[in-house]
Amino acid sequence: MGIVVQKYGGSSVADADGIKRVAQRIVATKKAGHDVVVVVSAMGDATDDLRDLAEQVTPLPPPRELDMLLTAGERISMALVAMAIAALGHKAQSFTGSQAGVITDSVHGRAKIIDITPGRIEQAIAGGAIAIVAGFQGVSQDTKDVTTLGRGASDTTAVALAAALGAEVCEIYSDVDGVFTADPRIVPTARKLDRISHEEMLEMAASGAKILHLRCVEYARRYNMPVHVRSSFSQKEGTWVLDAPSPDSPEGFAMEQAIIAGVAHDRSEAKITVVGVPDKIGEAARIFEALATSEVNLDMVVQNVSAATTSRTDISFTLPREDGQAAMSALARLQDEVGYDKLLFDDRIGKVSLIGAGMRSHPGITAKFFAALASAGVNIEMISTSEIRISVIVDESQVDTAVQATHTAFDLDAAEVEAVVYGGTGR
Ligand code: ASP
Ligand code: MG
Repeated sequence: MGIVVQKYGGSSVADADGIKRVAQRIVATKKAGHDVVVVVSAMGDATDDLRDLAEQVTPLPPPRELDMLLTAGERISMALVAMAIAALGHKAQSFTGSQAGVITDSVHGRAKIIDITPGRIEQAIAGGAIAIVAGFQGVSQDTKDVTTLGRGASDTTAVALAAALGAEVCEIYSDVDGVFTADPRIVPTARKLDRISHEEMLEMAASGAKILHLRCVEYARRYNMPVHVRSSFSQKEGTWVLDAPSPDSPEGFAMEQAIIAGVAHDRSEAKITVVGVPDKIGEAARIFEALATSEVNLDMVVQNVSAATTSRTDISFTLPREDGQAAMSALARLQDEVGYDKLLFDDRIGKVSLIGAGMRSHPGITAKFFAALASAGVNIEMISTSEIRISVIVDESQVDTAVQATHTAFDLDAAEVEAVVYGGTGR
């Protein structure tokens, strides 16, 4: 039997009891004959607590030192999990991200993995031990400093390690039973998905579903790594993130792809409108160059048809709320050069997205989605689509209504409530 990588989120290792419970699960997997590599998050809200502590010391902690501090959270849980396994009579060794060979670039706070050299992990498992790795951290190739990979990135550590080790599966344990057709806190009748394709999961994660870190899904898709998302609080089968079976696999096409995988929402974005942009070649390029230079990540972009009388148009786009300030300053500096009228900033928006690979071959999905929003009294402010996703921007106060109406319109509601949230934060 092959290698299984298991990742336990903060709520699964929130206290000593949680750590002992997780250790039993890990040992059970080992006893079933697998080599086991475990990736852990920091206990409960430890990462937030460490951040708060830093802020009490200084409002602007040096990024290198902040990374040094935050990586301590995962070190605590890795050592405790290793101790709990040892107490059950099994061999376990914990490793920091650096020791595990997670090599990154040198951007503190959101470093990217550039290589994995898991020699010490391979040695540990060859020696019969269970390897426990601190998630969310690595070491910079250039500076040799400790880095963090961004909030929620232990998932990414797990999938990256699984790919590098050639694991047969990467199991991501959290406090919910899997991936649901919508957030069960908004739609209590949301259904657990038995499986979802990498492509759909990628769109779900990019559209605000918090169950998996976006980069982890990108990684899983690139390396075609099956991911099993499940709860550490139950033995239930979770959701498999897998690519659709090929026509000549034993499963064949027996499993007809559902049209819609789910409805995701995101309240973390803001909208900026540049009003009265002269309708001339090159203006949009200038505006978006300025945003790119300021490292602002854009999501949706809409340019209206220009009014015939003025030859001016409005350009609206959405971006992460925390980039709002940087974007507004970058654009303000352009006002004279571009000659637009004014800027509008709105952070009371939400995005609702309908996702499903089946929508490719089913016309009429868009009409049905918009009709559901209309009958629920939800006004659409912006629209964007990909091949397997339709997203709308609505007023923040209407997000719940929009998600519920869409979920019902596409017959996604379960007959009975299936969703159980066992722990705290959904991670
Ligand atoms: N502990 C880190 C965080 O809270 C990483 C993770 O949980 O995945 O962001
Ligand atoms: Mg966490």
